[in-house]
Amino acid sequence: MKVGLSSQNSFMSHLAQQQRQNQQQQRQELINKNYSEIYSHELAHKAAGGSLAGAIVIEKNADGIPIGGHVSIKMPPLNRQKPQKTIDDANTVIRSAMAPFDPSEQDYRVASQARAIKQEAISIKNNQKLGNRLDVRA
Ligand SMILES: [Zn+2]
Repeated sequence: MKVGLSSQNSFMSHLAQQQRQNQQQQRQELINKNYSEIYSHELAHKAAGGSLAGAIVIEKNADGIPIGGHVSIKMPPLNRQKPQKTIDDANTVIRSAMAPFDPSEQDYRVASQARAIKQEAISIKNNQKLGNRLDVRA
């Protein structure tokens, strides 16, 4: 009985050890899986964002498991002298925001912000064309 109990104990502790190992392996797999998913998402932003995109940042929880990431992107200011520059940069921001196959809500927000700036730049550009034509006729 005593021997049986002892061997059972040893069996259990062996199981516990295996479970710990499995947990560690699962944790490592989760870390790798999350990291590569997040990294490829952020890399898509960065690649499409070119010089407007910042570095890839991977955020981890207290257990060291990656839970999110971000790449900063420079939203173009409305350039009234060179609206085409704003349009080009806004297009880059839109491409960058929509580059991953699984854009986040935040990505859609950034893209729509860039579209609004682009729209303003387009109307400034159109007004300038009109202005130039009037000047030529005058
Ligand atoms: Zn994103």
